[in-house]
Amino acid sequence: MQLVFLLLLLIGVLAYQWHMRRSTTLTRACRWRMDRSVAPDYWHCAACGAQWRGDEPRDCLRPGRGQE
Ligand SMILES: [Zn+2]
Repeated sequence: MQLVFLLLLLIGVLAYQWHMRRSTTLTRACRWRMDRSVAPDYWHCAACGAQWRGDEPRDCLRPGRGQE
């Protein structure tokens, strides 16, 4: 019984770490908002203030965060 509990705990920790790594690398905590008052295809990030024109961006475009 104790072994099953430890196994579930280990799986939970691994799943949590995997989820955190996946979410941080994919979205980088950016929250893109469309602003049609500026332009029909204008986006800005509510988290870091980055700006974008075109299709909805997926990554953070804040300068100095590893974007080539
Ligand atoms: Zn951002």
